[in-house]
Amino acid sequence: MKLYSTNNHHLSVAFPEAVFNSMPLDKGLYMPEHIPSLEQDFIQNIGQYSLAEIAFKVASALLKEAIPAPELRHLVQEAINFDAPLNRLDKNTYVLELFHGPSLAFKDFGARFMSRIMAYFLKDGEEVLDVLVATSGDTGGAVALGFLGVPNTRVTILYPKGKVSEIQELQLCSNGQNIYALEIDGTFDDCQHMVKQAFADEELKEKRRLTSANSINISRLIPQTFYYFYAYAQLQKQGKDKVVFSVPSGNFGNIAAGLLAQKMGLPVKQFIAATNANDTVPRFLESGIYQTRPSVQTYANAMDVGAPSNWVRIMDLFNQDREQLLEKVSGYTYNDEQTLQAITDIYTRYHYVACPHTAIAWLALEKYSSEHPDEAFAGVFLSTAHPCKFPDVFPQDIAAAIEVPPQVEELRSKAKHALAMETDFEAFKTYLLNR
Ligand SMILES: *Cc1c(COP(=O)(O)O)cnc(C)c1O
Repeated sequence: MKLYSTNNHHLSVAFPEAVFNSMPLDKGLYMPEHIPSLEQDFIQNIGQYSLAEIAFKVASALLKEAIPAPELRHLVQEAINFDAPLNRLDKNTYVLELFHGPSLAFKDFGARFMSRIMAYFLKDGEEVLDVLVATSGDTGGAVALGFLGVPNTRVTILYPKGKVSEIQELQLCSNGQNIYALEIDGTFDDCQHMVKQAFADEELKEKRRLTSANSINISRLIPQTFYYFYAYAQLQKQGKDKVVFSVPSGNFGNIAAGLLAQKMGLPVKQFIAATNANDTVPRFLESGIYQTRPSVQTYANAMDVGAPSNWVRIMDLFNQDREQLLEKVSGYTYNDEQTLQAITDIYTRYHYVACPHTAIAWLALEKYSSEHPDEAFAGVFLSTAHPCKFPDVFPQDIAAAIEVPPQVEELRSKAKHALAMETDFEAFKTYLLNR
């Protein structure tokens, strides 16, 4: 697979280069030069395949020139070693649960696949790959657990002191092995700034092999297409073939992967971009004016993004044509009060506990359905995190109904190891060079 930059369609780089660089020098994002179509026969019979089989099929359509089939099959199996069940809540409403991986958030798909792709392209005897990641919560845990024990890699996570939940912090700080956590006395933006400074530092670039693990990496996008195909497979088994996906969106990587799946031949009636108060995209869909804003804090904190980094990929998929885009993507936005009410409504109606991000996707699906009363389709909202990661948001009776998975109980028994650090780049640099 060759890739171009959304800022320069003449650029052409090989897949490993795009993976290790994350971003082209022109600050665009990498996109595949050629998006393959899966055979009609495969799509029409997709209901008979498992998630592992579908994941391999989709991955090999994209990556067969970069990675030989036996290795790719093995890599996919190792990365996607958990399920993505589609739960039916009523006649035409389904929730696609993407939180059954080790960090209990959908980011496990991207992080686990990326870590193994990077390990695959690292050659024996090469310098250790230093992965730097700033996190506001979910990304760090997924990346830490994705790279845990992966040979020839070392992960350093910067997280803002006191600003991640208890479970998130344990996921960052209890790993040991090749995972290092830095507790930064500052905000998420400070953490991100320190990481960016490291990538710009000449001495560090020379002495360390640095890479970033952020959500714009093309190797995080690819595995997120798998579960859209798998959801469709599960619907097909129930005799359904018209589907609307509602995606809780922040940086818009998840929904970009869905649109990529559609380009590869997955039949999808509509995508819904569901956002919290950070509504840059729904405003754009409404008005045609794309104007980013500083992010505001909400209950659905993993979606607190004012300038969604993957949006350029989506515009690129639609050749910058808003009219075409509107035919395939709808957008809705909800505030904290509506989110809380939705959590209660979902619980009352289905006896199901949804995390705040998931609740926003449900609200948007309800809205879309009410605006299209004469159309029959299966509505699927994506559940991006396990509710136990956000215990403070829920009313008491609903919180009590959350089933805490065994790996969380196990986390609580582990010791926390983090190095406290000021928001001081020189201290960070010294640490990276001298440990
Ligand atoms: C990261 C995240 C999102 C947003 O996904 P994007 O790909 O950034 O749009 C939604 N929900 C949860 C729980 C997340 O961790």
